[in-house]
Amino acid sequence: MSDETFVIVGASLAGAKAAEELRERGFDGRVVLIGDEPVRPYERPPLSKDYLRGESGREKAFVHPEDFYREHHIELLTGTPVSTIDPGGGRLTLQDGRELGFDRLLLATGAEPRRLPVPGAELGGIYYLRTLADCEVLRERLDEGGRVVVVGAGWIGSEVAASARQRGLEVTVIDPLELPNERIFGREIGEFYRDVHARHGVRLVLGDGVEAFDGDGTVARVRTSSGKAIDCDFAVVGIGVAPRTQLAQSAGLEVDNGVVVDEQLRTSASNVFAAGDVANAWHPFYRRSIRVEHWANALNQGPAAARAMLGQEVSYDRIPYFFSDQYEVGMEYSGYATEWDEVVFRGERDSGEFIAFWLKDGVVVAGMNVNVWDVNEHVQALIRSRHPVDAAALRDPDTRLESLTGDTARR
Ligand SMILES: Cc1cc2nc3c(=O)[nH]c(=O)nc-3n(C[C@H](O)[C@H](O)[C@H](O)COP(=O)(O)OP(=O)(O)OC[C@H]3O[C@@H](n4cnc5c(N)ncnc54)[C@H](O)[C@@H]3O)c2cc1C
Repeated sequence: MSDETFVIVGASLAGAKAAEELRERGFDGRVVLIGDEPVRPYERPPLSKDYLRGESGREKAFVHPEDFYREHHIELLTGTPVSTIDPGGGRLTLQDGRELGFDRLLLATGAEPRRLPVPGAELGGIYYLRTLADCEVLRERLDEGGRVVVVGAGWIGSEVAASARQRGLEVTVIDPLELPNERIFGREIGEFYRDVHARHGVRLVLGDGVEAFDGDGTVARVRTSSGKAIDCDFAVVGIGVAPRTQLAQSAGLEVDNGVVVDEQLRTSASNVFAAGDVANAWHPFYRRSIRVEHWANALNQGPAAARAMLGQEVSYDRIPYFFSDQYEVGMEYSGYATEWDEVVFRGERDSGEFIAFWLKDGVVVAGMNVNVWDVNEHVQALIRSRHPVDAAALRDPDTRLESLTGDTARR
């Protein structure tokens, strides 16, 4: 039996899946999984969707059944913030003063919401959404109904807006960009999501920022840069997240838009690894570092880091993937596109069932399937192939996507 101790800081999806993987791969030393939240690891996607709307129970969100950790001899410490780590000395301290030694450490500390630094930000009735606790407070607020201003038309803002509309609230969304998620998707898909929200009765105030929150103790009005005053009963702010790098930073590890790791998910200290939202990982396919703030990355990168901790050969090169559900619109997006020449559609955008492909120099760099299922694997294969494609063939629903990768064996 191994006398080594592997510690994981951050008891959420990446951390919990890493702990599971250590046991799956036969590690029989000590595994300690430490999280500052008071509950066992859970997944966050339901917190802006079914769980927020009260359509699913808490149990569905948890990563593992309650007994899992005990059964697998994983020491799960909840409600236990880690204060410092000392990679050189192989020790960490907990906020309550206790110390713990480790042979290998995984940082899976995730990310936290960015705060909106405007006058009135301290008023009551302004909500942020990251944790189960945040969600449960917001869910109760939705129960009361009324008028909500959602600040930010990114994923969290858009999903909260959709859930609030589905619960019958009056919803206004404010975003400084002209279109929802315009930076990631560009105009065509931004317009699609704008229209989806408008059709469901959301008032969209786009190309306008929040100047201040007004109210007497509780927010009652949001003032925008263009001079609008929007009355509300409460507000939800979803303007992005920042990686939780404090432990790494104060330990002197390399930090740059997250904890910097190589393709083995190893930090600048050889006994410390990082995975999930916090990790800015060298991506062999893209030949650059990428930090991915999505569920699938936490799900897969945690276990990959666990294998690296065990000394196995790891090269984490998954194509980034995420999904979103808003009203009746479900979508999956794969790829990593910072620039593109055109977006090609297979299917009519306005029909609400289509695949969009982002092309750069004739090569598919990203793809999104909206209410079309079981194609994601093929979209990813196309991206990975880097094979130039004919836009007409991409548009043509009778041309099988598998036939476009240039891999003659797959045709
Ligand atoms: C409301 C919501 C909806 C989402 N929906 C989707 C979706 O539809 N699709 C999608 O792809 N992605 C979605 N995401 C993103 C996805 O949930 C994240 O990418 C994922 O949670 C990242 O997992 P993680 O384990 O890396 O980090 P996190 O989930 O952030 O977990 C990190 C954990 O570490 C703990 N921690 C941090 N510092 C310390 C410390 N010093 N000591 C102890 N513990 C610490 C934190 O409290 C937290 O519990 C959503 C996120 C949110 C908030």
